[in-house]
Parts: sequence; structure tokens; C-alpha cells
Amino acid sequence: MPKVSNKWPRPSQSSLQRRVLRHPGRIWVLLILGSLTLNLVMIALLASLYEGEGTPGCKAERSILVAEEKKSVVAAPQQQSTAEELVSAEEISVSSTSGKRPASKDAIINLDHGDPTMFESFWKEMGEHGDIIIPGWQAMSYFSDVTNLCWFLEPEFASEVRRLHNLVGNAVADGHFIIVGTGSTQLFQAALYALSPPDAPEPMSVVSAVPYYSSYPAVTDYLQSGLYRWAGDASMFDGDAYIELVCSPNNPDGSIREAVLKSRNGKTIHDLAYYWPQYTPITDAADHDIMLFTVSKSTGHAGTRLGWALVKDKNVAKRMIKFIELNTIGVSKDSQLRAAKILKAVSDGYELPVSQNNHRLFDFGRQLLSIRWQKLEEAVKASDIFSLPDFPLALCKFTGEKTGTYPAFAWLKCEKEEVEDCEDFLRKHNILTRSGRHFGVEPKYVRISMLDRDETFHLFIERLSMLHH
Ligand code: PMP
Repeated sequence: MPKVSNKWPRPSQSSLQRRVLRHPGRIWVLLILGSLTLNLVMIALLASLYEGEGTPGCKAERSILVAEEKKSVVAAPQQQSTAEELVSAEEISVSSTSGKRPASKDAIINLDHGDPTMFESFWKEMGEHGDIIIPGWQAMSYFSDVTNLCWFLEPEFASEVRRLHNLVGNAVADGHFIIVGTGSTQLFQAALYALSPPDAPEPMSVVSAVPYYSSYPAVTDYLQSGLYRWAGDASMFDGDAYIELVCSPNNPDGSIREAVLKSRNGKTIHDLAYYWPQYTPITDAADHDIMLFTVSKSTGHAGTRLGWALVKDKNVAKRMIKFIELNTIGVSKDSQLRAAKILKAVSDGYELPVSQNNHRLFDFGRQLLSIRWQKLEEAVKASDIFSLPDFPLALCKFTGEKTGTYPAFAWLKCEKEEVEDCEDFLRKHNILTRSGRHFGVEPKYVRISMLDRDETFHLFIERLSMLHH
């Protein structure tokens, strides 16, 4: 018996030729259909590369990011995610509308990032007080001040940091080392490195109470370090050794926070990025072991990529400095000189006679944010769909007045029963926000930036006001 093959027999060339000769019309139809399909595929690919502005290369990356975004919507809750998923969950937020003004009334409004562009108008008014010129020959060396433990810290920047804290009274700078970083994002990693024993049998657990800043899990785990690893919600943590991240006022919900864990072996990092008078009453000068600040949120200069840490313990400070040495061999001097000038202009606005500088950053920020919060609260009330947290009034030691809390983000809850995913609901109305999932909670919540330019914010309120039950 001949063996029966379960594969399709390959037609020999001569049988193919015979078929072509027998049915020439059918073969041509097939060839034309095939070529049309190929053309359509090529057109779709090229369109995705060239859509919108920018270089095709960037667009290709962006379309991958958008694909990642779609993928991450169906991903498992953050605490069970892999390191790659956590990183992509943070990265996906960059899109073609990031940092841009909406071009028309019905354009996409991107309030996903905390991009502090609302401060641009203040700095335009400030004029030359905020300008710097750096001659080509200046700031060329790696070294800033070798007599300082933090040898890459520009003395001018350090003294303006101390001056501003003394003026505002939000943190005790005396008795603390100042460490400069490429954004407080680098300092956060330097602090994790410094607080994790190099010879521990297990990586140190890094925790923060939900809802936590969405970058904490991603930044902690993206290198899959053997020194530390993300361990989720601090309130659920059961253990003795940990690093707790305390963000106050908290990103995303604006709440004032203290550490929830209190073990002798535990360490805390206080992220005080928003502890400035435009956002919250300054009730006391914070005096913690490690406090992180950034120009991104204090003055609005996120693009300068500059942050600073106030650190009590010398050995911790040394290890943080070592991290920055290994990571980037110091921090941009150009950025430090610019930030020094910016901080100086802020302090001058309060300390010099009005005739010399009458631009008061914190007054500007608080007034604008209080108006924005009022508008948002009205729109939310009228919509009957959403709710917002309540904030108490408190005596602000900086202003000497009882002031409200005007967080940099609105933590909006979708109260509509049938809407499980608030980010998705708002996206359908061309409003981009960040889902509660990224902050360790349900997708009924979203975080919305309050720091965008006026025109973007007004368009957002207008669109929100059109949504009704
Ligand atoms: N901490 C918190 C709580 C933040 O919201 C941000 C910025 N979104 C950062 C740190 C990072 O700041 P930087 O731009 O200085 O890296």
C-alpha cells in the first residue's frame, strides 16, 4: 500500500503551468487581489509612520507606545504586574498631544502628565530677572566645589535652595546636606540605593500607601535591582525592613500624609515635591531624614530637570552622591546655574523692595489654582457624574492667613454606576487622564493635571460641563 501523506501535495511546476493555461482569467484575478492587499498593508504602515508632525522615527516609537497603552488597559492590576509592564505603564503616557496646546475646540485635551506649563505666563511677566547667559567657556569642568561632600553641587544653587527654604519655612535646610539631582526622579533612585544594605540576603521592600505616585513602582523595578524591589501598598505591608515613600501633599490625591509604617528597621523617604504655598498651607517646617524637592513643581521648570534632596545622615548622603557619580557623573551645571537664577528671582520677589522685583510666584500660583479649583468644583457638581475629595482650610505660616488646598492634580471619581473605567469614559470625550490603576487603585478614579496652560484648562472645563447624567 502506498503511504498516505497528510500534507498537501505540492503541485509540480508543470501542473501549475497547465492550470495557468487552462484558467488564465482566474489567476489574473488572484494576482490583482494579492497586489491590492499588499498595497493596502503598505499604505496603512506608512500612514502610521507619518501621522501628525515630527520625524517619522519618533512617530514609529509613538505608535508603539500607543499600542502599549492599549495593551496595558487590559493588563493585570499593578501589584501583580511584571517589571516590563510597570515600566510601560508609565512610559505609555507620552503621546503626540503631550506638551501641546489643543488645536481646536474638539481637539484632544491631554491632562495625563503633570506638565507645569501654567507657570509660563508668570515667567514671561518676570522678564529678565529669570534669564541667564552662560558664556561658551564657562561651566565646562565636571567639578563644582570639591570642598563640598556633594562635589558636583554649584554653590550658587545650594545657597538659593537654603534661602528659599528659610523664606517659605516649608523645610529645615540647616543641619541637612544638600544633594542635587537630575530631577527628583534621580534623587529618589539615589535614596533607594543609599538605604538598601548592599549585603542583604533579600532585596529591600519599597512601599507607599495607595493611591501612590504612579512612577514609584515603575522606577523602583525597571532595572530589576538586587538591592530593592517594589512591594506595593504600605498599609498592606507585613514586615520589619522596608523603605516607605511618603509623598505629601500626595500625588495623585493632594492629601497630607505621614508614614503609615513605624518599625525601627524601616526607612522613609519624604517626597515633598508639592509642599509649596501655591498648593497647600505651609503648616510646619518639615524636618525628615530625607526630603526630596524639585523645580518641576516649585517653580514650573520641569524641563530644567533639577531636584534637590535635604539629607540628615552623612553616610546616607555619601551613598546618594556615589549613586549620582556612577549614574551620571554629577548633574548639569547649566541647569544648576539656571535653577539658581530662577530660585533667586522667586526669593527676590518677596525679599526685595517692590520697585526692584514685584513678581510673587506663590501668590500667582495660589490665585490661579484657587480659581481653577473653583471652576472644576462647579463643573463636577453640575455634571452629577463625578466627585472630588474635600480639603480642609489651614493656617499657612508663610502667608499668615487661613488658606485652602489647591492640589496640582484633581483626583476625580466617576460615580456613574455603569462606568467602571473613568479614563476610558473621558477618553471617549477626547480628554486624556491617568487611570487609578497606575496609582494602585480602581479604574473608577483618574488623575487630572491642574497645571496646564489656561487655554487647555478652559477647554477642559467647557468639555466637562457638557457631560451630563
Ligand atoms: N515626585 C512627585 C510626587 C512628582 O509628582 C514628580 C513629578 N511628577 C516627581 C517626583 C518627579 O519630579 P522631577 O521632574 O524632578 O523628576
